[in-house]
Amino acid sequence: MFERHEFQVRTERNGVLNITEKVVEKINDSEIKNGFCLVFSRHTTAGIIVNENEKGLVEDMESFLEKLAPEDKKYMHNRGPDKNGHAHLRNILTGSGQTLPVEKGSLVSGTWQNIFLVEGDSPRTRNIDVYLIGEK
Ligand code: ZN
Repeated sequence: MFERHEFQVRTERNGVLNITEKVVEKINDSEIKNGFCLVFSRHTTAGIIVNENEKGLVEDMESFLEKLAPEDKKYMHNRGPDKNGHAHLRNILTGSGQTLPVEKGSLVSGTWQNIFLVEGDSPRTRNIDVYLIGEK
C-alpha cells in the first residue's frame, strides 16, 4: 500500500525547523501501520535531516552550515538571477529526504531523534511530502 501526504511550513532565514509533529500527524492520519515513511523536500535549497532537538545544537547546526557554505562567498550560481549558491550547497550537505520506519502506526525513532527542515535560503513557504509505504 502507498500513500502520499503533504504539509506546508513557513521557514525563517537559514533556519532549522522541527517538523516532527507534522510528520507524526500524517502517520496518524494514514491507514498504513507497518512500513516506511519518506519525508521529502521538493526544493533544491531546503533539506531534511534527523537529529537532536536541543536549542544549542540547533544553533550549532546553523553555524556549521554557515561555516561550510557561507552566504557572503562568491558562487558561480550567483552570476544568474538567483543569489543563493550557498543555499544549494547547504542542500547538498543535508540531502532532500529522510526515510524512517513506521511500526504499529507510530514513527520509530530514538529518544532524541527529531525531523528537521533545514532552510538554506530566505524565509518562504515550503512544501513537504510524506510518502508512506507498507501494510495496513
Ligand atoms: Zn538558485
